[in-house]
Amino acid sequence: MSRSNAAANESQYDVLVIGGGPAGIGAAVGAAQMGTRVALVERHPILGGMGTAALVNNFCAAHHDGQRLVIGGVFGKLRQRLIGRKAIYATTRMEPYNPEVFIEESAAMCREAGVRLYLGETISDVTFDAGRDVRVRLASGGKLCGKTLVDATGDALVAFRAGVPFTFGRASDHAVMPLTYCYMMGPIDLATAKRETPQFMHHDEAVGEDYYFLSGWYPDVDKKVAEARARGELRISRDHISAICSVPNMPQYATVNFGRVNVADPTDPVQLAAAEAEGKLQVQDGLRFFRKYLPGLENVDLVQLARQIGVRESRQIVGQYVLTGEDVVSGAQFEDVIAQSCYPVDIHEPGSDQTTMKPVGGVGHYDIPWRCLVPKSGPANLIVGGRSISATNEAMSSFRVSPSVMALGEAAGVTASLAALRGCGMADVGAPDVQKQLLATGGILK
Ligand SMILES: Cc1cc2nc3c(=O)[nH]c(=O)nc-3n(C[C@H](O)[C@H](O)[C@H](O)COP(=O)(O)OP(=O)(O)OC[C@H]3O[C@@H](n4cnc5c(N)ncnc54)[C@H](O)[C@@H]3O)c2cc1C
Repeated sequence: MSRSNAAANESQYDVLVIGGGPAGIGAAVGAAQMGTRVALVERHPILGGMGTAALVNNFCAAHHDGQRLVIGGVFGKLRQRLIGRKAIYATTRMEPYNPEVFIEESAAMCREAGVRLYLGETISDVTFDAGRDVRVRLASGGKLCGKTLVDATGDALVAFRAGVPFTFGRASDHAVMPLTYCYMMGPIDLATAKRETPQFMHHDEAVGEDYYFLSGWYPDVDKKVAEARARGELRISRDHISAICSVPNMPQYATVNFGRVNVADPTDPVQLAAAEAEGKLQVQDGLRFFRKYLPGLENVDLVQLARQIGVRESRQIVGQYVLTGEDVVSGAQFEDVIAQSCYPVDIHEPGSDQTTMKPVGGVGHYDIPWRCLVPKSGPANLIVGGRSISATNEAMSSFRVSPSVMALGEAAGVTASLAALRGCGMADVGAPDVQKQLLATGGILK
């Protein structure tokens, strides 16, 4: 086939976004709001990444410092739409949302902004043409051509293949945080739970329902976890239950985050498959434990297993700045801020049942600089958004939560749009114009 025929078979865009998790949604909507032609490729048939496909349907409190929202933009608009559909317990702490409504609303936001969605599509090959164009071949055979590309794969897959330098896990031994298979279970007898364990029952005025919410350390429950582990009833190396949260609109059903599978490299398909198998055994152990020990949960059964096991951590690119744990705990501020977060350092320690948490100091939130999205070296028209930006494992354990990664994706999408419009590399765009656009579309940067 001649080059001109090959080009004719390609779909032409300005910005290509690979990955449709929170970061990819932020990137695609943020870029398309600027009038550029944007395509988003996502391997699952739904948007949301870990936030839906892995059933992690919670906004952790990265977006609120106790006084006010510190993240707006695409995240703020999506949150408002979930509130409008009574599909989120909007407490400003940990906010469970209905994953199906999230899927619908995030897809609607993309469509309304003009994003072309390629769902259920995996990339097989990406070619950067001397920093001018980028060509993506899909596993289905489709071909896309863009001027710039946002890597929102979570694993920095495109950046890795393009030779961008990266780090992996904690510096001492490159170990990454364990994986967790999340799931939905039910039905919960809410009346019994309210009578026997009122501390886990809440009421949401706006949604108009009572709901079950257990998250974190409770001495009574933790003791039962320790005892069950000692008796060999629980193969989960965890000292507490991370979360059991009712699903808004269907509160007798809850999603569960209670499991820990250690793997050396979650980007390796063989290790990932083994982790999924172990994760499924932990799901059954978890269900047995809940039926036996938690009042109101005597009859719960598996309603939906997540589409995939949840991966917390893999590659971090090395960018123009490396965000550190010290930046997080000191509440660091940067001139080139493009997103804020107030979620603490939260490391699920690899190979251990412990979790390390450190609060954000200073003003109670910290800045994430634009330079963390821009690779130190590699194709000039490539930028990274989401959990795999340039950071140490300690800093990453904080900003990895959905609200802040959506803001990071949005900043990456805006940068990619500006670079496509100007015909320049990402690094030449500079933070001030990105900040201007983010603020003009509802972003919060201080
Ligand atoms: C078990 C667990 C519990 C968590 N709990 C919470 C919580 O309670 N609250 C909270 O706010 N955050 C939580 N998080 C963190 C948060 O969910 C993630 O860090 C966040 O989703 C990362 O967003 P992302 O868009 O960067 O990556 P992801 O969500 O991983 O999205 C990346 C997307 O890229 C797609 N993709 C990857 N490779 C390809 C390819 N080759 N072709 C096409 N598509 C591809 C993937 O399918 C995926 O949809 C949790 C995470 C885990 C794993």
